[in-house]
Amino acid sequence: MALLINDDCTDCDACVESCPNKAITAGTPYVIDPALCTECVGAHDEPQCRLVCPADCIVDHPDFRESKDQLLAKYHGLHG
Ligand code: SF4
Repeated sequence: MALLINDDCTDCDACVESCPNKAITAGTPYVIDPALCTECVGAHDEPQCRLVCPADCIVDHPDFRESKDQLLAKYHGLHG
């Protein structure tokens, strides 16, 4: 599944650079593009944005549920 940044976001910008897929855009709150988020599957063992987020505001997206295989295929589609 993709992840979602909720309204607890403080716009700190910590997550943007952590994303291997450049899926995060600045805003209020910041936004994760579900078409680009692989939950870091393919690049890291766990979601990097969640690791660096000081506000604990990155949650599972309720509308984008994908298997690990689907996330890995998405990652390879993005990175060739
Ligand atoms: Fe990017 Fe990974 Fe966060 Fe998804 S979980 S937005 S791929 S850092």
